[in-house]
Amino acid sequence: MEKRQQLYAGKAKSVYATDDADYVVLSFRDDTSAFDGEKVEQLNRKGEVNNKFNAFIMQTLSGAGIATHFEKLLNETESLVKRMQMIPVECVVRNVASGSLVRRLGVEDGMSLTPPVFEFFLKNDALHDPMVNEYHIATFGWATEAQVQKMKQLTFEVNTVLKQLFADAGMILVDYKLEFGIFGGEVILGDEFSPDGCRLWDAQTRKKLDKDRFRQGLGGVIEAYEEVAKRIGVTL
Ligand code: 5GP
Repeated sequence: MEKRQQLYAGKAKSVYATDDADYVVLSFRDDTSAFDGEKVEQLNRKGEVNNKFNAFIMQTLSGAGIATHFEKLLNETESLVKRMQMIPVECVVRNVASGSLVRRLGVEDGMSLTPPVFEFFLKNDALHDPMVNEYHIATFGWATEAQVQKMKQLTFEVNTVLKQLFADAGMILVDYKLEFGIFGGEVILGDEFSPDGCRLWDAQTRKKLDKDRFRQGLGGVIEAYEEVAKRIGVTL
């Protein structure tokens, strides 16, 4: 497999073509952004930590029968993944109230949510990723109804697997964001799962171990990511 030209540069990852039309290289950079790209900093080691963290999670999900785009780690900061047609919505599941849910609805931060809340957001920084529902997705043709159902089903399956994984390591999976794409006509999990796109709290102290440390200027961002990685058994 040979790495070719850059196809796309996102806020934290770049995508490169390969000599195989079905595969691309995901390159995890140290860039860390928040507030739709308004706050950007370079955090040493983040690309490497997130690449390895994501590989571990994707392999765990795949072992649990959830199809993902992940193929293999290529080096410290890059992974080989299937080239998908991405669905431009973000799927969020919340087990505990925090972040935008608290701002929108005025509920108490830290409140346990039973059943968990599911939300769709349009992936569009210029519009600040507005919340959308299944009608918007159908009307604007972002995904079919069957694809919407599949994304919801897979996002909840991920919750079952990862809530337990993090609970076993003394953490609460507060919420997370997933993105899906289509490969060979099937909806499969794409993008990444890392502390950049989820909230994780220590189960005893409720210390934040995720990107909220960056968003809120709490410091120790990469140290927290490394701690989570170590607790769940990721080899860094
Ligand atoms: P909230 O809606 O509370 O801002 O985010 C809910 C969850 O989804 C959080 O775990 C947050 O990190 C993740 N999330 C939502 N939007 C994005 C996004 O555009 N990028 C990343 N990396 N994570 C997001």
